[in-house]
Amino acid sequence: MTILKSDVAVIGGGIVGTAIARELSKYQLDVVLLEKEPDIAMGTTKANSAILHAGFDAHPGSLKARLNVRGNAMYHQLKDELALEIKWTGSLVVATSDDEMNTVQELFERGKTNGVPGLAILNREEVLAKEPKLSSGVKGALWAPSAGIFLPFGAAIAFAENAVKNGVKVLTECPVTGIEVTDGHVTGVKTSQGMIATQFVINAAGLYADDVSGLANDNSFTISPRKGEYILFDKNAGSIISNIIFPVPSKKSKGILLCPTVHGNIFIGPNAQDISDKDDLATTPAGLNEVIIGAKRLMPALPLNASITEFAGLRAAANEGDFVIRPSEVTAGLIHAAGIQSPGLTSAPAIAEFVVNILRECGLALTPKPNFLATNEAKVVFRDLTDEQKQVLISKNSLYGRVICRCETITEGEILDAIHSPCGAKTVDGVKRRTRAGMGRCQGGFCGPKITAILARELSVPIADIRKEKAESYLFYDKISGNCEVTDHD
Ligand SMILES: Cc1cc2nc3c(=O)[nH]c(=O)nc-3n(C[C@H](O)[C@H](O)[C@H](O)COP(=O)(O)OP(=O)(O)OC[C@H]3O[C@@H](n4cnc5c(N)ncnc54)[C@H](O)[C@@H]3O)c2cc1C
Repeated sequence: MTILKSDVAVIGGGIVGTAIARELSKYQLDVVLLEKEPDIAMGTTKANSAILHAGFDAHPGSLKARLNVRGNAMYHQLKDELALEIKWTGSLVVATSDDEMNTVQELFERGKTNGVPGLAILNREEVLAKEPKLSSGVKGALWAPSAGIFLPFGAAIAFAENAVKNGVKVLTECPVTGIEVTDGHVTGVKTSQGMIATQFVINAAGLYADDVSGLANDNSFTISPRKGEYILFDKNAGSIISNIIFPVPSKKSKGILLCPTVHGNIFIGPNAQDISDKDDLATTPAGLNEVIIGAKRLMPALPLNASITEFAGLRAAANEGDFVIRPSEVTAGLIHAAGIQSPGLTSAPAIAEFVVNILRECGLALTPKPNFLATNEAKVVFRDLTDEQKQVLISKNSLYGRVICRCETITEGEILDAIHSPCGAKTVDGVKRRTRAGMGRCQGGFCGPKITAILARELSVPIADIRKEKAESYLFYDKISGNCEVTDHD
């Protein structure tokens, strides 16, 4: 049964798919975004280094190099338009030997060729003035002032919310299981919710982009998962660093780095391990040990006792090395935005522009929408308000006076905003990613049950139906029935 007719169907609700959906929403088109999970940004976009790279790593002329530098620049305007949380910290690539200083020089030259602004090579004293706690063995560093840190899942949610405001339909829990091809051209996609008729399909399915491509008989590339593990430290560990600190990169990855987060934590990681299971997000003692050893090489006095959690992310490594962004040579109407490893977060808005240009070249008529709404409203962040602003807010809505997450000072009002926004949260982790409730020292130990009850109440479902994150991640079994009562506001 055909449930929808669209001009373009975007498969995958990561940062790439959502950025593409938002870019397409600027035109008079029927666009649908299809995500297999219960929420946006549950793939690679949720677990990574969250860096807006400057763009000196990738080889000149590659898509990675071009789209990185363009994407980085685009985030300045996007920050204002979509109220994104970004800090332009700058980054250092720190050398600890003369050999590594040679690589720093190469990165400097490469960065200049790629068009990265403001690059400079710093000597030992200049580096230690910026980061006094670095190892005394530091020789010098590449300084890239245009690098920054941000919230990748926040950006993807903001892209999706803005796309929805501009008419895009987002269907979650809607895995694409088939692509219908007639006379060599895409005519529709099969999903668990029914058939969607469409002229064009954008394959932004992350780790599964090769499988999605295979649904249209295009087996021109493969994607393999490459795991990266991290350790996150409590905010109380103090601000031991203020910039992004990279080691000199290897051929396989940018190496184990130290990085602040936009909310004042720091983390170390990732390692790089080729694996076979596209869903294996487990951290391992050996992997975490590798991360600690790598980070200690640059900063021996790490606050290891302040670690609050560990996590892993999976790079979608394509066999081609570069991003795979092109029309399929097998099936007309299928466009790949695949193999989007790092710097995919940084490049996402530029990838979106690039894909829309491909669609134009493929014959899609792009008429600008006169009433396109470029902006999202900034969300209430209670903890950032002055006492006076807090009082005013609470007097208008007392739920902003009820703190649910004590570690991060997140109120019930903010949680309701997250649930009832366009593309709102339906799971406990969905609330966490939108508000930070559960991201603090107790990692949701105290607020988790309350958030579960609020979700059940606001979504009018039995509490036993509330999930932590993925499709089957139910929080209750056996004893609590679907009729469990939901707590009231007061
Ligand atoms: C360890 C690590 C560190 C990184 N650090 C950085 C960094 O600091 N800076 C940077 O710029 N980049 C970084 N990256 C890269 C960046 O995270 C990725 O490039 C980016 O998240 C890719 O986004 P995506 O939308 O392509 O994929 P995803 O976020 O994986 O989204 C793909 C989506 O498709 C959905 N999907 C799959 N199959 C189907 C289907 N059949 N039907 C419907 N939906 C489907 C998935 O559920 C998923 O939500 C890092 C990556 C890793 C792993």
